[in-house]
Amino acid sequence: MAYNRGMTASDTHRQCDLAIVGGGAAGVLVALQALRHAQRPSRIVLFEPASVLAEGIAYATPWPEHLLNVPAGKMSGLPDQPADFLDYLIDSQAIAGVPRELLADQFVPRRHYAAYLRERLEQARERSVAVLEVVEQPVFALAPTAQGVQLRLDDEVTWNAQRVVLACGNSMRPLPVPGAEALPPAQAVEAWDYDGVRVLAGDDDLAIIGSGLSMADSVVALAAAGHRGRIFVLSRHALLPLPHAHGAAVTFDPQPLLAMPLRQRVRELRGQARTAVAQGIPWQSVMDRIRPMGQALWWSLNEADQRRFLRHVVRYWDVHRHRIAESVHAQVAELERSGQLQRHRARLDTLLVQESGLQLHGRSPNRGLPPLTVGAVINATGVETRALSMRNPLIQQLLADGHARPGPHGLGLDTTVEEGGLIDGHGQPQPAIRVVGSLRIGTLWESLAIPELRVQAEQAARG
Ligand SMILES: Cc1cc2nc3c(=O)[nH]c(=O)nc-3n(C[C@H](O)[C@H](O)[C@H](O)COP(=O)(O)OP(=O)(O)OC[C@H]3O[C@@H](n4cnc5c(N)ncnc54)[C@H](O)[C@@H]3O)c2cc1C
Repeated sequence: MAYNRGMTASDTHRQCDLAIVGGGAAGVLVALQALRHAQRPSRIVLFEPASVLAEGIAYATPWPEHLLNVPAGKMSGLPDQPADFLDYLIDSQAIAGVPRELLADQFVPRRHYAAYLRERLEQARERSVAVLEVVEQPVFALAPTAQGVQLRLDDEVTWNAQRVVLACGNSMRPLPVPGAEALPPAQAVEAWDYDGVRVLAGDDDLAIIGSGLSMADSVVALAAAGHRGRIFVLSRHALLPLPHAHGAAVTFDPQPLLAMPLRQRVRELRGQARTAVAQGIPWQSVMDRIRPMGQALWWSLNEADQRRFLRHVVRYWDVHRHRIAESVHAQVAELERSGQLQRHRARLDTLLVQESGLQLHGRSPNRGLPPLTVGAVINATGVETRALSMRNPLIQQLLADGHARPGPHGLGLDTTVEEGGLIDGHGQPQPAIRVVGSLRIGTLWESLAIPELRVQAEQAARG
């Protein structure tokens, strides 16, 4: 791509109109929209340490078994062109031989998504009066100034921007056990290290900590690479993500839910699911019906009910809301039926390095869990949502210097509801700094997937 990459310390023009921090899917969508909407020549700079744009964590996998968990027909990056991803798949012949109507409902390999975003970014760049530059470095610190915002890179180079959009995305939770960081790298692999997981496939037993979407990713990757050993899945609740389903749509009016307290909502949704199933409609269609209201459902809970939701309901919500393709679910279920995959409801307590491998000790609420000896452990504990535990140095600096504060319930960073303006440590919105994506989880709850990101990206780009 013809971007101006790798700016050096000798560059004396480190001024830009818009700085975007993070070049995963969200940052690329912001850049794309800023290029599309530019009315006059301007300079947009995207800071991303990875050498390939738009992959971030979700779309960095090259493996065909890692599927989108949203049907292709709903994955457009452009709010005003809902079929845009589908158009890309057809035009590029990425998925050969599948008619458009069928493709819209399919869960296609995730690797196509980053290629799609990069192609759309390139097209927007060619047509725009604005210029996009990519700096292949992380932003280490930033601070508001009288003219805008100053950004510092880790080599102490500074940039000045009139506006900044933070699109720093997801960071993984560390393994929840003391001493985990000292484990030999070949024996402790992150689920998002897609190649590293595949390399583990073989005869050794393995343990996966966490039972959500990243666990499913790891299991299908191991199976595709011919793993023969057992797979122990440990998690505090041991609930597996549930599958998507095809079928008729329910038609109930979800608006009254917004006025109900949490307990009544849960009862109502369970009732709607039972009614749907009795009519031969999959329960999943109830979740699909309320999907567009995800943010309103969160705001409309009072603080105490939000806390109750986080304590008692979220684990059930997650497996019903963040579903996986039926084929992936069937594969995980089959491995469990065969005994190769064993699920344990347990909290990981200790990990001991021994000659024979790693010995895991877990604490189970119901019965004792015998020590498990495995060749390696895969960390699939998922996205870190607590601001104070995030390991991104930029987030730590923003919090430490009072330019940001944790969002409601300590989740993500606090932002204004409508515009996503970063709120500082004194509670003051900073109009020159916008936030998109999962960092807004405490304010919006639903702020992770493309249907939300594409809307936020357009708003943030327009300023
Ligand atoms: C495994 C997985 C699968 C998913 N599947 C789907 C799906 O099928 N459909 C869907 O809609 N959503 C899916 N999601 C949700 C997903 O989070 C979003 O779709 C999207 O990928 C998020 O993009 P992002 O850019 O916000 O974050 P990320 O992908 O985390 O990217 C953030 C980027 O910011 C960069 N960065 C961080 N800090 C700095 C810094 N200080 N300076 C410069 N750069 C920085 C990082 O290097 C990274 O490239 C999935 C998520 C995961 C984890």
